[in-house]
Amino acid sequence: MTAPIRPQPGILDIALYQGGASKIEGHAEPLKLSANENPFGASPAAVEAMVKAASGANRYPSTDHADLRDAIAEIHGLAAERIICGAGSDEVIHWLNQAYAGPGDEVLYTEHGFGMYPIAAHAAGATPMRVPEHERVVDVEALIAGITERTRLIFIANPSNPCATLIDSDALTRLADALPEQCLLILDGAYVEFAEGYDGGLALVEARNNVVMTRTFSKAYGLGGLRVGFGYGPQHVIDTLNRIRGPFNLSTIALAGAEAAMRDVDWVDECIRVNAEERARLTGGLRQLGIACDDSHANFVLARFADEATADAADAHLKTDGIIVRAPKSYGLPHCLRISVGRPEDNGRVLASLGTFVGAV
Ligand SMILES: *Cc1c(COP(=O)(O)O)cnc(C)c1O
Repeated sequence: MTAPIRPQPGILDIALYQGGASKIEGHAEPLKLSANENPFGASPAAVEAMVKAASGANRYPSTDHADLRDAIAEIHGLAAERIICGAGSDEVIHWLNQAYAGPGDEVLYTEHGFGMYPIAAHAAGATPMRVPEHERVVDVEALIAGITERTRLIFIANPSNPCATLIDSDALTRLADALPEQCLLILDGAYVEFAEGYDGGLALVEARNNVVMTRTFSKAYGLGGLRVGFGYGPQHVIDTLNRIRGPFNLSTIALAGAEAAMRDVDWVDECIRVNAEERARLTGGLRQLGIACDDSHANFVLARFADEATADAADAHLKTDGIIVRAPKSYGLPHCLRISVGRPEDNGRVLASLGTFVGAV
């Protein structure tokens, strides 16, 4: 008798990622505010570039992404050779784990940290270690206390998801100063565009040999469906990740769309401006209804209710009104709902719906 084939260590420890829901029974066109997408879509220039690229889809895409990396480098003032582009920043997160963490190694993330960190650590056979936050804010001292000789990677989303809180560059510098030689600090910048006055950790990346940042086209750039993100870090890390990157990991259409989106600076700036305005309105409106929330530095707001049952009831009420938000139960926040900032009329609908909910309970 032979034993059936078994997956590699860690694989069966993965709890499947739960994406933001997009359907409600009985509502043909629900308002989806569950995945922090750009409610205005993508830049029209990006859409045009993708349509144009489609006719060249018989050819294999670029293997080195040179045009996209040049555009990113130019717009953000980065060194093109230290950029690596992935199918979403998720792919970059996976490469980092695959390259630097394995059985016996620890990968640190925080209490309410992004669900992909433990998934990617397990996929590499490493052990994800969850460190407490302080009042929904990443606690750098707790992270430092959690570092052991087995720690290889430390992941922080700043601004964080689902809490939308931000830690300052002094805190990031304290953490970077405390990093042992064998550790990499990864600053996940999925929402940096929305955080006023924060450089996404760029100064730290430029100053250190062991700090990496990731960015995505999925949020501010409105291209979640296209799957493009990038990492930026020290040359030795980028060269390592390039060895495991598939040569054709980004399609011709994805490369064209992302490049055009990156170059359409005015369009993304306008989306960021409207988001800031609407975020303030949504936050203020929730507080007026007696629903607590922290100041958001992203494109969503985390609403806190008295308890899980109230959050569930609010979620159900919103669904009745055709509105889908995110219940971040798996993030240790069962009494909360994460609401993406929508178009002005969308946010009006959310506030009106929660207004009748609060009036009703
Ligand atoms: C949305 C998100 C990402 C982006 O993932 P992509 O693979 O680039 O779409 C990364 N990190 C966090 C914290 C996010 O919320």
